[in-house]
Amino acid sequence: MKTLLSVVALVLIFALSGFAQTDPSNEPDPKLTEVWENEPRLVTPGRENKPPADAIVLFDGKSLSEWVGKDGGEAKWKIGGGALTVVKDTGDIATKRAFGDVQLHLEWRTPKKVSVEGQGRGNSGVFLQSRYEVQVLDSYNNRTYFNGQAGSIYKQYIPLVNASHGPNEWQTYDIIFIAPRFKADGALETPGRLTVFHNGILIQNHVELKGETVYRGQPFYRAHALKEPLKLQDHGNPVSYRNIWIREL
Ligand code: MG
Repeated sequence: MKTLLSVVALVLIFALSGFAQTDPSNEPDPKLTEVWENEPRLVTPGRENKPPADAIVLFDGKSLSEWVGKDGGEAKWKIGGGALTVVKDTGDIATKRAFGDVQLHLEWRTPKKVSVEGQGRGNSGVFLQSRYEVQVLDSYNNRTYFNGQAGSIYKQYIPLVNASHGPNEWQTYDIIFIAPRFKADGALETPGRLTVFHNGILIQNHVELKGETVYRGQPFYRAHALKEPLKLQDHGNPVSYRNIWIREL
């Protein structure tokens, strides 16, 4: 009997303490933490690999109207089959518009013909603000210095993994870029940041840019405008691009 009573008492204590914990009158009203301001605007996503409705289309497969070539002249890369292909020695191409913080999508393809090794195989590059390079390279069975392979932030960050498709296959980059900020006297205020997905795989996770991506020596910052043109590199290899769009953040 005594045991039965203690069991009943224990059950009662347990039940009561349980009640106390979940008593809604002791909890803050969940409505207090609901936010009903700054509703996200509607953006219609692109279907079947089309750009989202609010993107600026930089290359739609037909026209170079958004681009300039060397020294601000005509862009002389070749358009064909919905793609834009580097023409050796015609120089880098740059957007007419300037951009700050962006989400950038582009597709690229390295040449079918594989002849040389290393940096000479399908080299091009995506230069955010004409200064900060996400390397484009055929890195499929092609070793080079790791901070210079496809998806590297050139000579600053090795990609987390090698997500490369082979030569002559279309590959995607989805890039989130936060532009560096400079003070009035030209000193760095906040560094730039890059996140990169290569063929849908995260390869750069919000890395902090150390400065411009330079070939020789250490990276360094030089003050520039908040918005600068995007550049694609002529490294002498017939790399192709298509479906290039950008969203300002
Ligand atoms: Mg390059």
